[in-house]
Parts: sequence; structure tokens; C-alpha cells
Amino acid sequence: MQQPFRIIIVGGGTAGWMTAAAISSVYKDRSRFQITLVESEEIGSIGVGEATLPSIKSFNDQLGIDEVEMMRRTQATFKLGIQFNDWGRLGASYIHPFGLYGSLKNSSDFYQYWSHVASKKTIPDISKYSFAVQLCERNQFTFPSKDSGQIESTFSYAYHFDAALYAAYLREISERAGVLRVNGIVEAINNDPDTGNITAVFLRDGKTLSGDFFIDCSGFRSLLLHKNLQSEFEDWSHWLLCDRAVAMQSEQPKDIPPYTMSTAKEAGWQWRIPLQHRAGNGYVYCSNLISDDQAHDSLLKGLAGKPLTDPRFIKFKAGRYKKSWQKNCVAIGLSSGFLEPLESTSIYLIHIAIICLLRVFSFQSNKNLSILSDEYNRLIDNEYERIRDFLILHYRLNDRTDSELWRHCQSMKVPDSLMQKMDLFKRRGYSESFKYGLFSTPSWLAVFHGQGLFQQGVDPFISSIPTEKIEPILAEVSGMIDKGLQAASTHEHFIKQYCNAAT
Ligand SMILES: Cc1cc2nc3c(=O)[nH]c(=O)nc-3n(C[C@H](O)[C@H](O)[C@H](O)COP(=O)(O)OP(=O)(O)OC[C@H]3O[C@@H](n4cnc5c(N)ncnc54)[C@H](O)[C@@H]3O)c2cc1C
Repeated sequence: MQQPFRIIIVGGGTAGWMTAAAISSVYKDRSRFQITLVESEEIGSIGVGEATLPSIKSFNDQLGIDEVEMMRRTQATFKLGIQFNDWGRLGASYIHPFGLYGSLKNSSDFYQYWSHVASKKTIPDISKYSFAVQLCERNQFTFPSKDSGQIESTFSYAYHFDAALYAAYLREISERAGVLRVNGIVEAINNDPDTGNITAVFLRDGKTLSGDFFIDCSGFRSLLLHKNLQSEFEDWSHWLLCDRAVAMQSEQPKDIPPYTMSTAKEAGWQWRIPLQHRAGNGYVYCSNLISDDQAHDSLLKGLAGKPLTDPRFIKFKAGRYKKSWQKNCVAIGLSSGFLEPLESTSIYLIHIAIICLLRVFSFQSNKNLSILSDEYNRLIDNEYERIRDFLILHYRLNDRTDSELWRHCQSMKVPDSLMQKMDLFKRRGYSESFKYGLFSTPSWLAVFHGQGLFQQGVDPFISSIPTEKIEPILAEVSGMIDKGLQAASTHEHFIKQYCNAAT
């Protein structure tokens, strides 16, 4: 009888359990595909990572997860975007929504329409024409609609959840699907002397887990990819200078907002993530500009409610491993690289890594993998680099003179790919759109506009249209938004009705 293909996942944080749940849901026959996950209760997981992007919903849907149950079990709230305070300049605030500007029928030209009219007369800011932003500003929520004639069709949503509860939930799903879980510490790794492939991991308690394919979800330790297979790290910390975070949970004030909050500070920025039962907070900072104690004090001052936990300090470096798939091992999650959580991209990167892996690999043989791994690495590089540029943009576009970090970032040399995007937008309000990967045009627009990069000239196709013909389009969108807001309830009320964790 044919031996099953043995997949070993090392690590049981969000990355490990998302990977186990996804693979076990696609490869269901345990006599052919054996999946073992080893994690260490003693080491634990990183314990942060609570704000997500809309793709998480499709991940859950593919697993057949019931949204109400998942939200109750993980104390989840809805997320429509991120509010950026003091980014660009002190006192400024804008929202990067998971949605469009305008309505579905005019969104591709909407920014140009708005710019054309705004160049002739005073009209409301572009953010007033985004339904998702307007919901955020009023702490409201409603479900998106599939009817493209409705303003509710212009946005999507993600979640804020307790990452540990989410991993535990996925663990249950995975174990039900036949994933074997082992609690133990991986102490050594064996490689085939001819191929270099990993053949087994050895645990401290003497167990050996032999496998055909290994997935490194060991977090920053990157036990398999980096420590064993020596994949080279590409350091991006000259662009993304923050290298530390202090995290803490606090009481959640009333009026749960449907967005993550990010406030730029002297040496970095502070996040606030609203859950049903508490808030997650953290200060991401440059350790050569302020001390850990100063960061902790600053975090405490920025809390909206009483602290509930002691501070946790986390060190990191921006960048990624040049090849996140080497030999018969792919790294998913923090073991493959890290970009600070400014746009909540890490869980998205886990999701996309799983999709790419499932797309290119059929878990049948670990021979001749290089064509597959080259393609996988190309796809993942693309994702990392797009996100990297988008994050750097937030630092680069600023007029703050109040601290060394912001003064430095204003004039720092950024990747050519980003310089080109900024230049294209400045000249014509043009922003490239892609079929795959983050972020889409409205996201770039939100940050360009929110942080003070404005286009110099309106698209000639639009500027030739008399503004009197465009104003009714703007008015129609405003009317649709007003109507939509009247029908939406508060986010807090919505959660209580739909997925209250306390009931
Ligand atoms: C400050 C900060 C804030 C963040 N905020 C967000 C956010 O808002 N949104 C977002 O999408 N992402 C965020 N992230 C990233 C997010 O936390 C991670 O992407 C996510 O939690 C996945 O982590 P992981 O599973 O790769 O690693 P971990 O959670 O560290 O899990 C590693 C696993 O490996 C196991 N392990 C390690 N060594 C061994 C060993 N020797 N033997 C056996 N097991 C071992 C551990 O026990 C654990 O189970 C944030 C990250 C940081 C640092």
C-alpha cells in the first residue's frame, strides 16, 4: 500500500493553525495525506496580531466557518478601515477605508471628477464621498450589498479578533479534520545528506517527527527556513526604522469603533484595536530614539481605558527571507519575514502564502520542487514588495518637524518602485491597479490624499467636461450615502444583535 504523504507543520500560532486548517480542508483523505502540527505550550505564540484585512472573510468562508460563531468565540468586532491620526502632520486625521470613493458605477473616475470640481470651487473633502469612511466616522456598521446600484456595494469588511482565541478555534477545526497535534519543543533537525531536504525534526522529549514536506510556522525563530536551511534575510530596516513594540491590553470604552486606530508619535506609532471585551494596544517604535521605559510610559498615556495586562516587549526587524520556500520547506507567517502592523498585513500574508502554496503544490512528492518553489517565491516577493512600498509611503509623506524620526523620513531615499508611484500620482492623480496583491487604487488614494500629496493636473478626459455636468454625480453619491447612513445601525448595536460574545 502507498505510504501517505507526510506534512509536518512546526508552530501553532495564527500561521500554523491557519495553514493546518486550510490544507486539511483541501486534502481530506488522511490515508493519503498525514498532517502533524507540533507546537510548544512552553514557548507559546506571539500574542499579538488582532487586526485583519477583508481577505480573512474569504479564508473563513472557504473553511465553511460560521461567521456568527467565529465572532462570538473570538470576541470579534467588524473593521471597515484604519484611522490614521497625526500621520502627515500633527492634528491631521484620515481614514483608509476598505472601500471605494463614489458609487460602483462611477468609482474609477470619481477622484478625477472630485478633483476637477474641487479645483474650481469649495466642496466637501473626498472622504465625504466614501460610504465606508462615513460609517466609520459615525461608529456605524451594516453589511455590504451585492446589488451594484446600492451604496452598500462599495465596501468590504474585516475583523478585529483575539488572535489566541482565533488560533484555538482553528485548532478545533483542524483536529476535527484529522490533523495530529503534538506538544513539544523542536530541538534538532535532520537533513538528507544528498539533497539537503529536511527529513525529520527531533523533539526535546525524544520524539522524532519524520516528514516529506515541512512548513515552518515557528514565528521569528524561523527554525527551519533560516536556522536550518540558512535562507538569507533581506533587511528593509533602513526604510522601516521601527524595530520594537510594547503591547498591552486595556478596557474597551463604550462605542466600539468599526476601525483600527493608528496614532503617529515621536518615535513611531500607537495602535488601538477594539474587541468586544477589551482593546489591544501597542506602541511600535525605534529603539535608538526612545528607551523601552519611555515607550511604555507613552503607551500608557495613549490608552483609552484602564490597563488589564503587563506590558510585553517584542523585538523585530523589517524585511523578509529572500526565498521563503527552500528545498522541501516553506515558511509561512513571521518565520518568512516581517513588516510592521501599520496596515494589518501579516495575517493577509499568511493567507496569501497558503493560497499560493495550494495553487502550486499538490503534496504528492518532494522531488524536483525547484520549479514550484521559484514560482511560489516570485508570487510572495511581489506581495511583500507591494506592501513594503505602501508602508514606507506613510512615513515618507509627512510634514512633521517635531522629532528626528519624521524629519529623517521626509527626505529618505525610498525604493524606485515607490518613487514612481508617488510621481505618477502627483502629476496626474494616476494610481496603477493590479490584478493580484495589495493595495488597490482607493487605498493609495486614501494615503496620498490623507497625508497631503495632491495631484497637479486633472485627467484631460475629465477636465474637458463642464463641472456643471459633474456636480450632479457628486450630489447623487452624497444622497446615496445619506440614505445608507440612515439605514445603518451603530456598530455596537449591530454586534450585540448579531454576534454578542457575552450571550
Ligand atoms: C507588534 C506586533 C503587532 C502585530 N499586529 C498585527 C495585526 O494587527 N494584524 C496582523 O495581521 N498581524 C499582526 N502582527 C503579526 C502577527 O502577530 C503574526 O503574523 C501572527 O500572529 C502569526 O504569527 P506566527 O504564527 O507566524 O508566529 P507565533 O505566533 O510566534 O507562533 C510561533 C509558533 O511556533 C512555536 N514554536 C517556536 N519555536 C518552537 C520550537 N522550538 N518547538 C516547537 N514549537 C515552536 C510556538 O510555540 C508558536 O506556536 C503583529 C506582529 C507584531 C510583532
